[in-house]
Amino acid sequence: MAKLYYRYGTVGSAKTLNLLAVAHNYRNQGKKVLLLKPQLDTRFGKDSIKSRAGLEMAADVLVRPDSNLLELDFEGISCILVDEAQFLSTNIIDQLREITMKKNIPVICYGLRTDFRSNLFQGSMRLMEIADSIEEVKATCQYCNRKSIMNLRRINGVAVVEGPSILLGADETYAAVCYPCYVGQIEKAKAEAGQVLCETSV
Ligand SMILES: [Zn+2]
Repeated sequence: MAKLYYRYGTVGSAKTLNLLAVAHNYRNQGKKVLLLKPQLDTRFGKDSIKSRAGLEMAADVLVRPDSNLLELDFEGISCILVDEAQFLSTNIIDQLREITMKKNIPVICYGLRTDFRSNLFQGSMRLMEIADSIEEVKATCQYCNRKSIMNLRRINGVAVVEGPSILLGADETYAAVCYPCYVGQIEKAKAEAGQVLCETSV
């Protein structure tokens, strides 16, 4: 039976670059891969998977919560690669799991572990629960030399812990940070906001 893999990391940890490298290797050997991504991610155009380093490949399938992936044509497919898997719904992850068993095709998912409030995404949660292999794509904290595990959302350079879970934006909106820097940045933002509040109420 083929395996379901989850390779998770923080923003900017070269997850997509890793995915594209795997796809390139398969294709270089004359093997067919299927590239999937959730439909909601329109950062780089509707149907392409693009890394921050500039590499790009066309996505074969844009997945919606009501998609039935088992209806896809798997003829000759050696591997399925999924970008931004954190945004997929539980039932889609379950379908990917089913594909590894019924079609005997390995599925490698790449995505974030948690959102900027430190909560698991729905897709990440299901992958953590049922993947055969869970691997971390490591990256360094933006502020120190520890490993980053958190995704800090910044609006105009200020850390925020409120707002919707999914806000796809420019690179500078999120920073990969370690836990102490995450807490530190949020406390700093809160202290500065409090200061502004005090000044304006005088
Ligand atoms: Zn740090």
